[in-house]
Amino acid sequence: MSDVSLRAVKKSFGAVNVIKGVDLDIADGEFCVFVGPSGCGKSTLLRMIAGLERITEGSLSIGSQEMTDVGPSERGVAMVFQSYALYPHMTVAENIGFGLKMTGHPKALVAERTAYAAKMLQLEPLLQRKPGQLSGGQRQRVAIGRAIVRNPDVFLFDEPLSNLDAALRVQMRSELSKLHQDLQATMIYVTHDQVEAMTMADKIVVLSAGRIEQVGAPLELYHRPKNLFVAGFIGSPK
Ligand code: ADP
Ligand code: MG
Repeated sequence: MSDVSLRAVKKSFGAVNVIKGVDLDIADGEFCVFVGPSGCGKSTLLRMIAGLERITEGSLSIGSQEMTDVGPSERGVAMVFQSYALYPHMTVAENIGFGLKMTGHPKALVAERTAYAAKMLQLEPLLQRKPGQLSGGQRQRVAIGRAIVRNPDVFLFDEPLSNLDAALRVQMRSELSKLHQDLQATMIYVTHDQVEAMTMADKIVVLSAGRIEQVGAPLELYHRPKNLFVAGFIGSPK
């Protein structure tokens, strides 16, 4: 089980309170999307779940295990960033397997997991190419492959499609939804794109200035927004 729970989570940078008390339960296998305006704390929240940022106050559990002070590599999570810095001198296969190789996994396992990720992402014909010979969408798939090989319980995505053009975004959306179905993993996905949120999410978390405004299924938020802010964000005519 890999449900994720945040209890009264706060984050300050110096004297600035960025996350002001967040309580949230994400179910095992759920596709949960964080939306909200720029600067509201989406990335900070995700980075705290990943263990890349310390939680100032409150607690986090993953799969019923207390994780508040556990290191990022021991949480069973993998994060995919917006700027998918690939190693330019390595092949696609080497890029995908690099993290596993560096953490001392046997060669055969690295090869097996790399093949699995490549299959999932339709990267098999491209495994011997260098990142410079790939399109933007293919590069983003390699970045997702680097997360898949680690076989995480929880995938964290921080605006993974925002560098892609509109047509490719639409295609990657459905690929990611399919990946979610295939892997049955918990996914937490940050976006500022309402359409992405509405089409991909099981559950949407609307954030504003470090607080949750509303949590619900896409249609629930669309038809019953709690306030004008949520209505504006989800695009309800109300
Ligand atoms: P979002 O991802 O929703 O755009 P962020 O989580 O990146 O928002 O940022 C939330 C707020 O926290 C912003 O005001 C940002 O300037 C601030 N912030 C983020 N990271 C740091 C940091 N390392 N030091 C100081 N302030 C930060
Ligand atoms: Mg952000």
